[in-house]
Amino acid sequence: MSVPADVLRLNADLHAHSRVSDGVLAPAEVARRAHARGVQLFALTDHDELGGLTEAGAAAAALGLAFVPGVEISVSWGGETIHVLGLRIDPGCAPLRDGLARTRSGRDARAREMGEDLARAGIAGAYQGALRFVGNPAMVGRTHFARHIVERGVCRDVAEVFQRYLSEGRPGFVAHRWAGLADAVQWIRAAGGVAVLAHPGRYRLGETALWALVGAFREAGGEAIEVVCGSHTRDQYRRFAQVAHEFGLRASRGSDFHGPDESRVELGSLPALPDALVPVWLDWPEAAWAAACARSARAPSGATTAARA
Ligand code: AMP
Ligand code: MN
Ligand code: MN
Ligand code: MN
Repeated sequence: MSVPADVLRLNADLHAHSRVSDGVLAPAEVARRAHARGVQLFALTDHDELGGLTEAGAAAAALGLAFVPGVEISVSWGGETIHVLGLRIDPGCAPLRDGLARTRSGRDARAREMGEDLARAGIAGAYQGALRFVGNPAMVGRTHFARHIVERGVCRDVAEVFQRYLSEGRPGFVAHRWAGLADAVQWIRAAGGVAVLAHPGRYRLGETALWALVGAFREAGGEAIEVVCGSHTRDQYRRFAQVAHEFGLRASRGSDFHGPDESRVELGSLPALPDALVPVWLDWPEAAWAAACARSARAPSGATTAARA
């Protein structure tokens, strides 16, 4: 298959969050910001939730921005929390919806425990405080606690809160059992989507365990891996490009945008995928459409008439 270079080089941002999970902006605002920052192919991927997709899709359509429905599923594997993106999913798929509902269901109890743990560490009332930052009460998570703790002046920013609290071994961390890896991949595939291993560089796994994870992910039906993403360094782009090659996985690119003042990387601002990788969007109709729109926008005005004459 010969793929036009402009499909390969699309400014794709396939990882972003809205208020429906732990992002700051409304779904439509994230889509509008992506468009304004030059994104040509955009996916909203809220944690364990599909509730923002209709709004983001409508906003993208109004702007002529190619939109792909997505989700980021929380998974427990080998004692670690792993994130699996589902891209180009059908949001109406019952097995996916049911699986996500089960994945979300323990969040409130976990958050109450986090509140109690933080109170023992001298930060009282954090559960109620975190709820004030929540757009969707079913999705209360660590980021909402972090924003509240910053607001109280205990820490300078969200990154510092995660360093001092909320991470494993720190006050406010409550171990939690998320979805199984094979289950999450199956829900995504049942919904017609592509499963992408998110930000592999973030997991605290040695080489052997990381290899086992990528192998298990592929075995379960996972088809792609994030190579260029907001959590990776340039060295990690190279490292995970190599992993994509070794395992025959397609490559994805996404900022993991959470909000204007919080995210290390802005929507649409990452470098291109390293050469010789197969982009996850290679044969998506949305990508072909985005490339065609960009081509016609570049064509000199009157080109169509001239060609006909
Ligand atoms: P939860 O699903 O409630 O465990 O929250 C996970 C979210 O916390 C991630 O999706 C990130 O948005 C955020 N997060 C995790 N670790 C960090 C960190 N070190 N710095 C900033 N945000 C983090
Ligand atoms: Mn998040
Ligand atoms: Mn993630
Ligand atoms: Mn994310």
